[in-house]
Amino acid sequence: PAPVLAIVGRPNVGKSTLVNRILGRREAVVEDVPGVTRDRVSYHAEWNGRPLTLVDTGGWDIDSRGMASRIAEQAEIAVRMADGVVFVVDATTGPTATDEHVVRMLRRSGKPVLLAANKVDDERGELMAAELWSLGLGEPHPISAMHGRGVADFLDAIMEML
Ligand code: GDP
Ligand code: MG
Repeated sequence: PAPVLAIVGRPNVGKSTLVNRILGRREAVVEDVPGVTRDRVSYHAEWNGRPLTLVDTGGWDIDSRGMASRIAEQAEIAVRMADGVVFVVDATTGPTATDEHVVRMLRRSGKPVLLAANKVDDERGELMAAELWSLGLGEPHPISAMHGRGVADFLDAIMEML
């Protein structure tokens, strides 16, 4: 069976954009408004001839109540069911308290995690990506889900992890 990769992170960091980039088509819903992906949605993908199941999630808000907490619950379920996790952070805003909260949850999960520093659309963003070392998840992988920058190398790292 194809290994399962959960894509998690705060709303609006570019999780669904990354899923579409990997799929090579616009299937996951991308919105400027946070919280559009409400549940776990799975997609069949492939990289270098190897199958891979991507699970897009709605993401996390630390002070989540009501609908937001239900969405966060779905993200936790996605992590539990996954073989590996991609934690997506917006490199242009830096790590937030919510990001640190998610890191603790990911540590508890025991799952292998790769850190995507997204929205690094050009080399000026590389410095901001480096600040994400502070999250303690190892090397931040600078990518632009929107333009594809760095995504191929990142996928190679993902397949090595899975
Ligand atoms: P999600 O809530 O984490 O799934 O985020 P989305 O994929 O829906 O993206 C949220 C917003 O960020 C949209 O306006 C995207 O176009 C934008 N976005 C996503 N990836 C990038 C990127 O690499 N660079 C830039 N500049 N914007 C991005
Ligand atoms: Mg989304």
